[in-house]
Amino acid sequence: MTEFRRFLRYVRPYRRHMVIAGIFLIVVSGLRLVLPWAIQRLVDVAFTRKDAAFLNRLALFLLGLIVVQTFFNVGQTYLLSYVGERVVADLRTILYRKLQSLDLRFFADRRVGEITSRVTNDVTTIQSVVTSQLTSFFRQLLTFIGALALIIYVNPRLTALMLVIVPPVILVGRFFGQRLRGISTTVQDRLADATAVLEETLSGIRVVKSFVREPYEIGRFTDAVEETFAAALTRARYRAGFTPLITFGGFGGLILVLWYGGRQVLAGQLTPGELISFLFYTFMIAGSVGVFSGTYGNIQEALGALRRVFELLDTEPAVVEKPGAISMPPIQGRVHFEDVSFGYDETLVLRDVDLNAAPGEVVALVGPSGAGKTTLVNLIPRFYDTTGGQITIDGTDVRDVKLASLREQIGIVPQETLLFSTTVRENILYGRLDATEEQMMAAAKAANAHEFITALPDGYDTRVGERGVKLSGGQRQRVAIARALLKNPRILLLDEATSSLDSESEGLVQEALSRLMQDRTTFIIAHRLATVQIADRIAVLDKGRIVEVGTHKELLACGGLYAHLYALQFRTLDSVSRATEHEVPEIESVIEGERRKPDLSSLLRL
Ligand code: ADP
Repeated sequence: MTEFRRFLRYVRPYRRHMVIAGIFLIVVSGLRLVLPWAIQRLVDVAFTRKDAAFLNRLALFLLGLIVVQTFFNVGQTYLLSYVGERVVADLRTILYRKLQSLDLRFFADRRVGEITSRVTNDVTTIQSVVTSQLTSFFRQLLTFIGALALIIYVNPRLTALMLVIVPPVILVGRFFGQRLRGISTTVQDRLADATAVLEETLSGIRVVKSFVREPYEIGRFTDAVEETFAAALTRARYRAGFTPLITFGGFGGLILVLWYGGRQVLAGQLTPGELISFLFYTFMIAGSVGVFSGTYGNIQEALGALRRVFELLDTEPAVVEKPGAISMPPIQGRVHFEDVSFGYDETLVLRDVDLNAAPGEVVALVGPSGAGKTTLVNLIPRFYDTTGGQITIDGTDVRDVKLASLREQIGIVPQETLLFSTTVRENILYGRLDATEEQMMAAAKAANAHEFITALPDGYDTRVGERGVKLSGGQRQRVAIARALLKNPRILLLDEATSSLDSESEGLVQEALSRLMQDRTTFIIAHRLATVQIADRIAVLDKGRIVEVGTHKELLACGGLYAHLYALQFRTLDSVSRATEHEVPEIESVIEGERRKPDLSSLLRL
């Protein structure tokens, strides 16, 4: 129940609505209790005395009552729905805010589907608590208390008999409710698994199709769905046994009351009207216990959802701002790795890294796949915190400054650019939301993107499709470069695409990249010969260590790992490309695939 208490914090802002709804609810439930009383008057007064005038008055009175009840009912339903919807909207926003605050480690460890399910399904389950479950719970509770008080007043002995039956029914209800709670959590978890498969495979549908893995994915999804079914079936079994059992208890009590009360009427200790009203009240009590226990199960379900939501809310990001962190002053661009080590878990993937970059310098990172190049670059904007050592920018430890002030001055162009499914314009403006149209276009021009964009059906207003699928790889990259140019960062982190671009696109991208790198401290994970050649310095990484640093020429001359990598890849590909370009231009298209792009990593894996 601690979850519930915590949940109330989110309802508190709307307590005025809740109080009014509560009063309305009491009125509605109270008025419901009048009907059995009216029937008692009908039997004992109108029928016994054959008083038609009394009957008319009674009918009019009841009519008035129903009108009042309807009014309060409408008000209460509206108010509670309002609060329910409001709380759901608040919770979703708070959850999303939380998700945005979490670091990359969190997202690497979790599946998107699972997280999505918490923000959507779980929150919806919680909503039903406020809008319907809680109302129904309190309405039944009020009916129960009211009806009980009235029958005690009418006939204590008969009530005592009934009370022998009700508590066991409630106890059984509680037992089942607790079991249901556990099972419901399992059902939600299994459903999240299935959703995760769904989302993952739909977003990766090209991979699925290209590998003809539809049957495999159908199998995977079916398995997940079947597991959900199995869990839901267990829950259904509990529910199936639960409600009828409670109802059985209720009706059993009713029959006993009918029999015992009937004897009292025959003995003249009770009027027939009193017995009938008593039966009605007992009926109400039995009904409320039945509904109450069903509601109880649903509330348990919602508590499960609440627990998952709170668990997410309680996740602390690993990368946090220090209290009193200062704003990063405008960066000059001196980046210094001092004895940096880092591990995603216990195993270190970077060790004793010492690396300097002067303002405006271009440092290329080269090394086998898995050497730690991406990891090293990710430490600069503090996507992760170092395990040992420190990274300073212009002498300031990156952990001492506000995250936003640091990241605002760092530009990133990843290997596979992800564009949002909006227009080209909005994707570029993502770099600086308040840029003018001229600035935006200037950036696109510098990124060699203006030309292809204006040739698109709607120019800058063309929608790029989910993840930017409607653009080619090279076009996406140039949009990403334009975005980074618009941001105008002092430090630039580039991860060259390993996927091949056509040669024209490649030239345009290279040119755009050179413009982007100008006057900015750049760390570039290099896969291309052109890049290592223009780099001021090359740092060679191997198994998490920097093994060589120097210029292209120096490193070739010293004959270490770089020279070896170069011999393996760059040189051969370089000569292939030269041969095809100068000697046999007509077969260029045939050999295109060969000459496209030297992918250091993939070659080294062979
Ligand atoms: P590179 O960019 O040089 O190919 P990475 O920096 O991506 O290398 O990876 C370095 C090492 O860290 C690899 O062994 C990789 O398996 C591991 N690694 C990368 N990302 C994660 C992660 N999110 N969680 C755990 N290990 C990771």
